[in-house]
Amino acid sequence: MHVDVMDGHFVPNITIGPPVVKSIRKHTELPLDCHLMIENPDQYIPAFAEAGANWISVHWEACRHLDRTLNLIKDHQCRAGVVINPATPVELLSEVLGTVDYVLIMSVNPGFGGQRFIPNALAKISKLHMARAAKGLSFQIEVDGGVTVDTIGDLVTSGADVFVAGNAVYGSGSPAENVRKLQRAAEHALMQQA
Ligand code: ZN
Repeated sequence: MHVDVMDGHFVPNITIGPPVVKSIRKHTELPLDCHLMIENPDQYIPAFAEAGANWISVHWEACRHLDRTLNLIKDHQCRAGVVINPATPVELLSEVLGTVDYVLIMSVNPGFGGQRFIPNALAKISKLHMARAAKGLSFQIEVDGGVTVDTIGDLVTSGADVFVAGNAVYGSGSPAENVRKLQRAAEHALMQQA
């Protein structure tokens, strides 16, 4: 379950913090994937871990000492992820690919739901997928923003493993059926590729 944490500084919107994560934790055993769209994440990582986060990702653009921050997440027994915005090149991650458990590619500018997919995410996912194979690494590639039945096929064939969908699941109709439609579209694209 993906949790979008926004602070009104790093992104122009404010959402939720550790107390809400703690409340969600009581109602599900699903892994909580906390995407921190906040300034100064080091200050809050312990609180999110204590609230029950299992995955914690931080933005490359918000971290002055990224290696330290990723290790801080791991020290709190959480999976550590790094996130890049649409304008940030994937090459800037080369020195942390051996440290992270996952990389999150933003396919919209972070801050609001329901935005349109920015296509340069596909080339970034392909490059990461190739770098992962070349280095023999096993981090996962996650994508967030504009994931729909129309975009998930290209995303999965580019090499993405984890898909964050808000509007495509909760926008209209049955969320469970919407998830099945996304799964079918992803499976269909993989079969076409094979
Ligand atoms: Zn997110």
